[in-house]
Parts: sequence; C-alpha cells; structure tokens
Amino acid sequence: VTAPKKIGVLGGGQLGRMLALAGYPLNLHLRFLDPSPVAPAGDMAELMVAEFDDLDAVARFAEGLDVATYEFENVPADAARVLAERTRLAPGVAALETSQDRVREKECFISLDIPTPAFHAVGSQHDLERAVAVLGLPAVLKTRRLGYDGKGQRVLRSPDDVAGAYEALGSVPLILERFVNFDRELSIIGVRGRDGEQAYYPLVQNRHGDGILRLSRAPVDIDDTMQQRAESFMQRLLDELDYTGVLALEMFDRGGELIANEIAPRVHNSGHWTIKGAETSQFENHLRAVVGMPLGSTAAVGHSAMVNLIGTVPPIEAMLAIEGAHVHLYGKSERPGRKLGHVTLHAATRELLDARLPALLRVVDAR
Ligand code: AMP
Repeated sequence: VTAPKKIGVLGGGQLGRMLALAGYPLNLHLRFLDPSPVAPAGDMAELMVAEFDDLDAVARFAEGLDVATYEFENVPADAARVLAERTRLAPGVAALETSQDRVREKECFISLDIPTPAFHAVGSQHDLERAVAVLGLPAVLKTRRLGYDGKGQRVLRSPDDVAGAYEALGSVPLILERFVNFDRELSIIGVRGRDGEQAYYPLVQNRHGDGILRLSRAPVDIDDTMQQRAESFMQRLLDELDYTGVLALEMFDRGGELIANEIAPRVHNSGHWTIKGAETSQFENHLRAVVGMPLGSTAAVGHSAMVNLIGTVPPIEAMLAIEGAHVHLYGKSERPGRKLGHVTLHAATRELLDARLPALLRVVDAR
C-alpha cells in the first residue's frame, strides 16, 4: 500500500470541502488552513486554524506536504510565497497575484488578445472624474482588490452617482470599467496538468442576483465556434500563467462576442454541476493536476443545472423529491447572503431539464 499523498489547501470553505470529498477515492489526503475553527472543510479533513498572514503558522502548515494549493484567491501573496518556498505550490504565485488585482488581470487579458471592457485605474476622486470623461456612463466602479460576490462595486449611471463615489468605496485603489450591456453571462473552466496537458469543460451560462451566482446551466446551447473561442482564451491564460490546476474565466456574451470579466485561480461555483454532470468533476481534475496525475475527461454527461442555496436552506425532503436533484449542504449556519449549499439537477436532454427545473426553482425561491 502506498502512503497517501498529502495536499495542503489555503482556505477551508465549501470549495475545500468538495476537494476533500473528491480526494479520498484517489488516496489523496487534504489538510486545510483557515482562520475559522468551524470552516466547512474541517468536517472532512485535518484543519489547522490560523490567520493567513501568520507566516510562522503557514510554515508549520507546510511541513510534510507533497503539494499545496488554494481554494480562496484573497489569501495574502506572502502566505503563498512561504508555501512555494517549502513545498510545491500549484497554481503558482503569479496566477494568484494576477487574479487579486483587477487592473493586472485586465492587462493580462489585453496582452493575450482577449477582449475585455475598456477600463481606467482610479486612485482619487479626481482620477475618477477623468476616467468617467473618457469612458462615459454608465460604468462600473470596483475595488481593485478583495472584491467578491458583487461586494466592493457599484454601477455609476448619472453624474450624481459619480460625486463622492471614490470615498464611498473606501478611498482604496479602484478600477472603472465600461458597462457591458450583455445578453448573458458565461464561464468556462479549464484545467492544465503538470506536463502542460489541457482540458476544458463546456461553456456554462450563469445568472447572478445581487452580485451572487444563483443559477448555472451547462452545456450552453451555442455554436461550436463560441466554445472554441472560449477554449482558446482559456488555453492562452493557462499557458501564460504557467498554470497547474483548475482555472475559471467569467465572460459576458454580447451579441455573440465574448468579453472577459475576470478569472478565478481555483475551482469555481459555476463548475459544481460537474460533480455529477461531467465525466470527471472539476474537483477531481484539480487534484489530479496538482499531484501530477493524468487529467480526466471533461465531457458533459447529459444536461445539468445548479441552483445555489443562499441565506436559508429549504426543507431537504422537498428538494430531494424532485427527480434528478442532488443536494449538497456545506454545514454552515444560516445568514443572509451566505452560500449554504447547492442543488444540481441532471437530465438526459435539455428539454427534460427545462421541464424539471421550475419545480426546483419554486422550492428554492419559496424561502
Ligand atoms: P465581478 O465581481 O467582476 O464578477 O462582478 C459581479 C457582477 O457584476 C458580474 O457577474 C456582472 O453581472 C456585473 N458586472 C461586472 N462588471 C460589469 C461590467 N463591466 N458591465 C456590466 N456588468 C458588470
């Protein structure tokens, strides 16, 4: 019997929990670092409780690991550097730093010829007014760093919205982006192995509410050229970042044109459907990649939808009573705006999925 491989993960949220679940059949054991003693991954695997900026703790965390990764992109780059010095870190520090700064991220898109909304870095109210004069309104003002789930951003529609907006977002470095009047939001998840082998999941369509993902569906009903274009963007990003693991790219579709919004250097909420809806889940493929195993097929099995459970959890019996539904709860306490779990729905055809989805949305929206 070979000893299990030990994988250290920065962050112990639901993404970590699902990574741990995917790891056991491959004899991969995970160890998590998270500031919260009740982090969801702690139910599944070893959990070390410490702040991410406690670099001594991070160094102790690294002892005995075969490889380290992260499931949260707002970990301090210094913590990632400590891991990279002591063990193998995948994805690397460059991917983390690129995704942490929206300006750097957009510069990366431009250098790779990936369309993205016109933007301006903003460091003061004066900068903001100049940027508005160039880009026009409406526009979206976001913090450069530490934004997630729609936090740290606002849409500016009129000059009244511009007045005082720099201070209202905390007088921190900001980015102003041209507002994209999109038809729909799409994402693609790709994975790159240690040897550079790549695979891509089918495009996913996402619906957000209040900045939080509500519903994903895959595969999307589109022509092959759009899938190929999205794969080509993903391939350029994976190669440029010398990436190992799963990477997500969020995009806008405006009249068939794909416009990149942001990347997430980790497994992603819009990929939860892959647990039962693809030959190999994003979680398993991320682990395979970071330990240097061959990647698994990313092909979809039928049609899938994923609905997030936000703030409250409907009665589990009502969700499970829907044909094709699978419930994943993260073991978190209820709080408004918090992701507590998700339900996936699977069907052999798009028509069957369309027929089943309203019942699930009634149960989830009823709360
Ligand atoms: P983000 O934090 O960048 O993912 O933004 C959260 C959500 O805000 C996105 O999923 C979009 O629905 C919306 N959004 C972000 N940027 C833009 C933009 N430039 N134009 C229009 N909507 C946007």
